[in-house]
Amino acid sequence: MGSNGNQKDHAAELSTLASLKKIADATFDYEDARYVIFGVPFDYTSSFRRGSSRGPAEVRRAYDNLESFDVNYEVEFSELPICDIGDIQVNEDASETVDLVDEVTSIIAKDGKIPIMIGGEHSITGGSIRSFRNSSMVIIDAHSDFRDSYMGNKNNHACVTHRALDVLGEGRIFSFGTRSTSREEFTDPDYKKVRFVSADEIKEKSMEKCLNEINGKLKESVYFSIDMDGIDPSQAPGVGTPEPFGLRDVEVRYLIRKLAMKIQGFDVVEFTPDFDNGNTSMLAARLIQDFIGSRETRKKF
Ligand code: MN
Ligand code: MN
Repeated sequence: MGSNGNQKDHAAELSTLASLKKIADATFDYEDARYVIFGVPFDYTSSFRRGSSRGPAEVRRAYDNLESFDVNYEVEFSELPICDIGDIQVNEDASETVDLVDEVTSIIAKDGKIPIMIGGEHSITGGSIRSFRNSSMVIIDAHSDFRDSYMGNKNNHACVTHRALDVLGEGRIFSFGTRSTSREEFTDPDYKKVRFVSADEIKEKSMEKCLNEINGKLKESVYFSIDMDGIDPSQAPGVGTPEPFGLRDVEVRYLIRKLAMKIQGFDVVEFTPDFDNGNTSMLAARLIQDFIGSRETRKKF
């Protein structure tokens, strides 16, 4: 499969890689869509609480309960050019899965559309980021995910920021909400090549001030990756590796609203349904709506 050919061919190619589940409001065909949603039900490197592979299905189920009209943005989502190509077919091999995510994302991005990926664990972002080599990356995460290799695997979800650094290089990655880093990661000479904005720093200064400090350093194009464990466990309990003292949902929404027009690729990962009380799936679905709503609204945020 390549990136040549027209969009009709690409739609056929993509449909062979995906299932038939759709998010409510995704009423457009691939050819006419501006936003292309896909799920990646992969969780084979997760070390603590498994089950994020069921994330895509549960986010879609939660999304069914959201209003199609949004009163904050004054947009009707069902009329916006959103397409859902379903879940891509994954196996247990992290490296193959990451390559497949790269393949799918690159087709979507080359067609000038915005990929919205629902995980699955965070390792999959190591594939999607390869289509955004000239972009900056903004991450929401409790963890620095900066091990070069973990349990013998460079594509473990604990390594995804390091994999992103391989692609983007120094000064391009900004990770918000950090509060869990091993000594090994902290003393890695490359650690300073990423700007880790800790959850404590955000609490002290406010998200607004933290964003203002980095805003001028962002490229015109941004890839935005939300590891749901970046948000406080009280608001997002359904994650594989929960960490106390996290970000508030409104702080994450604030970043999305402020950066929305620059964001060319978006993902929500690490949601793990078995440990949820219903709030995490709803928040994950809502953050997707907030991203699209922030881009499509005529109102100023
Ligand atoms: Mn992560
Ligand atoms: Mn994390």
